[in-house]
Amino acid sequence: MLGRGGAREVMVMSLWPRQDRGVPATTAEVARAVFPGGCTAMRLRNLLGPLFTDGRFAGLFSGRGRPALSPGRLALVSVMQFVEGLTDRQAADAVRSRLDWKYLLGLELRDRGFDSSVLAEFRERLAASGSAEELVFETVLDQLREAGFLTAGGRQRTDSTHVVAAVRSLQRLELLGESVRAALEALAVAAPAWLTGWAPAEWFTRYGPRVDTHRLPTAEAEREQLALVYGADGFLVLEHVFAPDSPGLLRGLEMVEHLRRIWVQQFYRSPDGLRLRKENKGKAKTEAGRPPASTGLVSPYDPDARFRMKRATKWIGYTAQISESSNDDRPHLITYIATRPATEPDVDTTGRVHAVLKKRDLLPDEHYADSAYITAEHVLDATRTGIELIGPNNKGNQWQSRSEDAYDNDLFTVDWEALTAVCPQGHRNTWSGTGIDRHGNPRVMFTFSLTDCTPCPVRSRCTHAQTAARTVTLRPRDQHELLRRLHTEQATDEWHRRYGHRAGVEGTISQAVRAFGLRRSRYRGHDKTALQHVLTATAINLTRLDAGLTGTPLGHTRTSHLAALAPRRS
Ligand code: SF4
Repeated sequence: MLGRGGAREVMVMSLWPRQDRGVPATTAEVARAVFPGGCTAMRLRNLLGPLFTDGRFAGLFSGRGRPALSPGRLALVSVMQFVEGLTDRQAADAVRSRLDWKYLLGLELRDRGFDSSVLAEFRERLAASGSAEELVFETVLDQLREAGFLTAGGRQRTDSTHVVAAVRSLQRLELLGESVRAALEALAVAAPAWLTGWAPAEWFTRYGPRVDTHRLPTAEAEREQLALVYGADGFLVLEHVFAPDSPGLLRGLEMVEHLRRIWVQQFYRSPDGLRLRKENKGKAKTEAGRPPASTGLVSPYDPDARFRMKRATKWIGYTAQISESSNDDRPHLITYIATRPATEPDVDTTGRVHAVLKKRDLLPDEHYADSAYITAEHVLDATRTGIELIGPNNKGNQWQSRSEDAYDNDLFTVDWEALTAVCPQGHRNTWSGTGIDRHGNPRVMFTFSLTDCTPCPVRSRCTHAQTAARTVTLRPRDQHELLRRLHTEQATDEWHRRYGHRAGVEGTISQAVRAFGLRRSRYRGHDKTALQHVLTATAINLTRLDAGLTGTPLGHTRTSHLAALAPRRS
C-alpha cells in the first residue's frame, strides 16, 4: 500500500504467535533421504533450531487487523535471501519448492508458502520499528553465544566502508529542479484538482519530465538565473501548501517536507530578493552560507544520504561500521554492525562499539582498529573497561611530529607536580598554564624564553616562528604519559606483529561488499539501509558458521606481489 508521499505504508495487522513444533516428520525423513550429507539450511536448523520465535516480533503488530504470517519465519526467510542472494520472488519460490528451506523453516511438504509481496511488507514493518538490529542480529548473536561460537574476551577488530545511496548523484541545479518536481509529483497524486487550480501552465512542461532531460545551461550566470527560477517556484509551492485554506494532509507529504528543508538550506531572502546561499569557505561562517555537509540534503529522494569525500573516494550515502571477533579457535563472526551518516568520522564509533559490545556481553580483551578510531581518550576509556585498544596513535598535525629530526612534544621532559618542562637543549620554560582547545578538550601549555630560543643553535628543528619562542601544548598528564608510552611501543616489531591482526577485518569487508552487495544501498533512507546491513551481517555470520562446521578454510587477505616485497618498518 502506498502512502501519501509515495512511501509504502505499513498495514494494520495482528499477531497470533505460532509455537515451533520442530521439523515435521515427513519433511525430515524426505530431506535426510535426499541430502544424506546435510546442507547449509539443514545444518543451521539442526544446530540453532528455528532461530526466530514469533513472540519476539510481537511489538511490530497491533492487537487488531488481519492476522500476520509468522514473523519468525519471515525473518528467517529474509536472512536466507541474503545468504543466497535471492530476490523476493526467488525466496518465495524457494519456500514453496525447496526441500532444504522447508526443513529449515519447519514446514510441511505440502506447504505452499506465501506471495513474494509479503517479504517487502515485512521489511517495511521491521525498518519502521527501528529495532531490526535487536530483533534479528542480536537474536542470532545470542544463539551463537549460547552455542559457544562467540564469547566475551579474546580479540575483535573494527573497520568501515562507504555505502552508496540508492539515489542518483545530483548537481546543485538538478537537486533544486528535482526537489520541486518531486514535491509536485506527490501533490499531483494527493490533491490533483487542488494543484491544477493554481499551478502555472509552464510548470507542466518544466517539471513534467525529469529535470535532467532538459538541456541545462553551462554558463555560470545562466545557471544561477535558472536556480533562482526553481527557487521562486519552490517557494510558490510551499506558500500554497501552507496557506490556511489548503488541505491539511498536504503539509505531511514527505516530498513537501524535503522541499522545505532543502529550500531553507539553499536559499535566503535579502532586501534585493531571493538569493542562493554560497558555500562557506574556511572557518568564517555567515548566515547566508550553506550548511555543513553533515546536515546538507543532497537528494529529495533520500533525506538521510550525505556527501562525503575521503581521500580519493567521493560518494553520496552512508558509512557501514563493522566489528568482528578474530579468535583462532572459533569462526570469525560479526559482533557489531551500524549504518552511520557518510559524514560521521570513524573516531565517533569507537566508544559506541564498546558500549554496544558491553550490552551484548561480548567485550573483547583486545580491540584492533586503524588510526582513524584511536585517540588517547579512547585508549584510556577502553583500559577502564578492561579492553586494550590497539592501533596507531598519530603524534598530531604539528610539523615537528612529521619531521624525522624535529623536536616533537615527546622530547620535552615535564615535571607535572611543578608544572614545568625542560626542552631537549636543557632549558626550562618561563610560563605554563592550562586551557581548553577549540574542541573543548583540556590542554596544558608551556612557553620557553626568547633569551634561550633566539640564539639556540637547533632552533630550526624546534620552531618555525620568526621571532617567538617555542610553545608546547600537551594533553593532561594521564593522556600525555599514555601517548608517550604508545609512541614508544608502536616503534617496535612486536607491536607491528600484533597490529597485523587488524588487517583481517578488510577481508570481512571485502566479503560483505563482493558477495553480499553491502556497498550499494538497495533501499532509500537510513532505516531501510540499516535493515539491509543488519540482514547482511546476520547472513555473513550464518555463512561463516556453516563454513566452520564443514571445515571450509578461511580466505586469505590478498596482497599484491609488490606489496609483499615492501621493507618492514623499524
Ligand atoms: S628553540 Fe628554545 S625550546 Fe627549542 S630547543 Fe632551542 S632553546 Fe629549547
